[in-house]
Amino acid sequence: MQHVDTLIYAGWVIPVVPENVVYEQHAIAIQDGKIVAILPSSEAVRHYAGRITYRLPSHVLIPGLINTHTHAAMSLLRGFADDLPLQRWLQERIWPAEQACVDADFVADGTRLAIAEMLRSGITCFNDMYFFPDVVGEVAAAAGIRACLGLILIDFPTSWAANAEEYLQKGLEVHKQFHGHPLIRTAIAPHAPYTVSDAPLQAAVKLSEQLDIPIHMHIHETQEEVEAAVAETGERPLARLARLGVLNSRLMAVHMTQLQNDEIRLLARQQVKVVHCPESNLKLASGFCPVSKLSRVGITTALGTDGAASNDDLDILGEMRTAALLAKGLSRDASSIAAAEALRMATLNGAKALGIDYLTGSLEAGKAADITAIDMSHIETQPIHNPLSQIVYAVGRDKVTDVWIAGKHLLKGRALTSLDIHDIQAKTHLWRVRIENVLNDEAPAEKRDEAEDDSMVVPATEAAAEVPSAHLAETEADIDPSIDVAELDAKPTPDADAND
Ligand SMILES: [Zn+2]
Repeated sequence: MQHVDTLIYAGWVIPVVPENVVYEQHAIAIQDGKIVAILPSSEAVRHYAGRITYRLPSHVLIPGLINTHTHAAMSLLRGFADDLPLQRWLQERIWPAEQACVDADFVADGTRLAIAEMLRSGITCFNDMYFFPDVVGEVAAAAGIRACLGLILIDFPTSWAANAEEYLQKGLEVHKQFHGHPLIRTAIAPHAPYTVSDAPLQAAVKLSEQLDIPIHMHIHETQEEVEAAVAETGERPLARLARLGVLNSRLMAVHMTQLQNDEIRLLARQQVKVVHCPESNLKLASGFCPVSKLSRVGITTALGTDGAASNDDLDILGEMRTAALLAKGLSRDASSIAAAEALRMATLNGAKALGIDYLTGSLEAGKAADITAIDMSHIETQPIHNPLSQIVYAVGRDKVTDVWIAGKHLLKGRALTSLDIHDIQAKTHLWRVRIENVLNDEAPAEKRDEAEDDSMVVPATEAAAEVPSAHLAETEADIDPSIDVAELDAKPTPDADAND
């Protein structure tokens, strides 16, 4: 009988490696933060004794989910700017708010909020891109979650750094600060082709080689971005990045909604990893990443939520479902992104993109005990013909009950063990007020007056009496006999034209 730290008996285990396999009535033995064995429960009883033993007969265990692209601190801007295309969303709403509010405290509190949400969604590792990556690292390490800190690089000055040289210098310091940390990694994170010029990009490539760390970058997010680059320079952004040496096996290219066949061949040749963020792309009407095509030519594709300001949840279970459904709908092929592939994108492929697949991303002996337990006993997931199918197509993140990272039990019956949820709630509320106050103070005087007029108190009875007629008027206005339906297809509205 071998004594181990933790022994988890479960109804099902989906290890991801080997692929398409579901083990029934199995147990996972954990020692010193690592998986030592995965074996049938009947054998585990005879061979292992756990100092702590969990019995989860109606749960499925999967590898901890990996969020391969996010901006964690932007959780404080969730719901702050909706229904806008990317450039207007950035320029009119997000960048001014960030300019006014982002400092080390914003990043600490926003990241903590995001980590709480991610742990409760079964996510055990996130790939971040934001200002103050040192703060992100400290908060993630204290919470016990795996993180890859994006050493942000952007042409314009922010509260984090004044110029390219300072971004790179500070990034290097952050890399040194966390070098050798068991949970924290770093990646150079040039924001996007349209916000980083050639010289800093070349410096980023050099630094990534020297430090042997990935590059994490938004690329070809929208058609508008590609067209603007072609109009200005005659070159597509991807061609420019190829010329500058950015396209290599270390690159995590995020979004990639605009890809021609020759570009897909180039990405495959250069072993570039692609991070698909389907819900952010849908919400910002950015376009569609051809993931099933990419994975068919052998390109590693992972999944990201993007920030909570453009999604608006940090829910990789949800992204799996959206990615699988979207791929089928676009290709008109129901076999596109099958359930097993969606789960691999959300786990092992994320680990591969981050260069940590030797450590995490699947449930295998020798790997870290990064495990997510999902309760399948509820009516919404019955009957269980195939737990893999339920995970991708039916289950919600509220059914995630337990999460272990490197063997540490960080979510226990949906309660966070390393974070104070009341403190997070209180600080989040304070930030909401502060963000609104800062932006209201900056709004032009007449706009403020309008806002005050809008909030005028209407007597309850009067307001209620107005509802039916207002609703009727709206219905009538919707029917416009002068609009020819065929014309709607031929001539998209200016908004749609600029952004699809
Ligand atoms: Zn992003």
